[in-house]
Amino acid sequence: MAMINKQVLLASRPTVEATVDNFRLVETPLPALAEGQVLVRNHYLSLDPYMRMRMNDAKSYAAPQALDTVMIGGTVGEVVDSKNAKFAVGDKVVGMGGWQQYSVVDGNLPGVMRKVDTTHVPLSAYLGAVGMPGVTAWYGLVKLCMPKPGETIVVSAASGAVGSAVGQLAKVRGCRAVGIAGGADKCRYVVEELGFDACVDYKQHRDAKSLDAALAEAAPNGIDGNFENVGGVILDAVLRRMNAFGRMALCGMISGYDGGAVPLSNPSLILTQRLRLEGFIVSEHMEVWPEALKELGGLVATGKLKYRESVAARIEEAPEAFLGLLKGKNFGKQLVKLI
Ligand code: NDP
Repeated sequence: MAMINKQVLLASRPTVEATVDNFRLVETPLPALAEGQVLVRNHYLSLDPYMRMRMNDAKSYAAPQALDTVMIGGTVGEVVDSKNAKFAVGDKVVGMGGWQQYSVVDGNLPGVMRKVDTTHVPLSAYLGAVGMPGVTAWYGLVKLCMPKPGETIVVSAASGAVGSAVGQLAKVRGCRAVGIAGGADKCRYVVEELGFDACVDYKQHRDAKSLDAALAEAAPNGIDGNFENVGGVILDAVLRRMNAFGRMALCGMISGYDGGAVPLSNPSLILTQRLRLEGFIVSEHMEVWPEALKELGGLVATGKLKYRESVAARIEEAPEAFLGLLKGKNFGKQLVKLI
């Protein structure tokens, strides 16, 4: 009898906020493998903010997710059957397996799946600090913020998968690292565990005047590099404190992913402060991945790059965990355990 694969499909598109009704859990028999294919038992699924944009039928850097198909998503797992000489049973792999327990992968397609070494780096870290979020942090910081020792780097969503790596990589480069995060617990973690120099709890500073004062205290010499993950009032406050010739890496605008407007209140500061502002998509910079992964892997293996995970226990919990991520209920990299 064929084995059963639990999968989560995109059932409908959100009108404004995404809800659990936009997803559907199905049980599908696994097909027999064809020549060249590999069967992977996924151990962890990565939940990432970009998935929210794929749920919309709107113009973006990537095509929308088709309805009634398995939700897109990064996974790590173990090869359990193989008809491809490049992959053996027992190999640990990272790929885009999607929201499902098993994935059937064409092992000959370039770049769809790669083997990973779990001797010094835990398997799940290949979805976080030593995976796409880590490389995102590395690219935006190193290539766009171009940090120099003694400069101040600010990052929003600082306790999350990307933000936590940005601040720690900035510290390695001799910078002052300032986080912005939601809540006292997250801010304490960012400073005490991750070693940032300061963290502004934006939930404690709801109006612009109060947020400006908190940021001035956290970044007394102004801001030279901003790694933007949130947008809106947070970006406005950072912009007001940018030093002349500062650099801004536009990585994410999560405050608007559920459809709200994310206005920029004073873009003329970009001119008067002669700022450089650049958006980027990490998958379009594959040339930096080997260098970035080498540094990130080395730092994680030696305990110098710390990270935290929020782990949902079963695939059935993936939709709820994903909606929580969009509201800051996660604390660190949001994963779903699939085994
Ligand atoms: P996180 O682990 O940081 O989780 C998301 C965090 O965003 C939440 O925990 C919450 O933190 C914060 N957040 C959510 N809604 C709001 C809001 N309305 N206002 C302020 N903060 C909010 O996610 P990732 O590290 O995976 O992603 C961080 C950012 O990086 C996202 O914007 C994502 O889209 C972007 N990204 C971009 C990539 C690229 O190639 N450009 C690649 C990967 C990620 P808190 O509780 O502190 O508010």
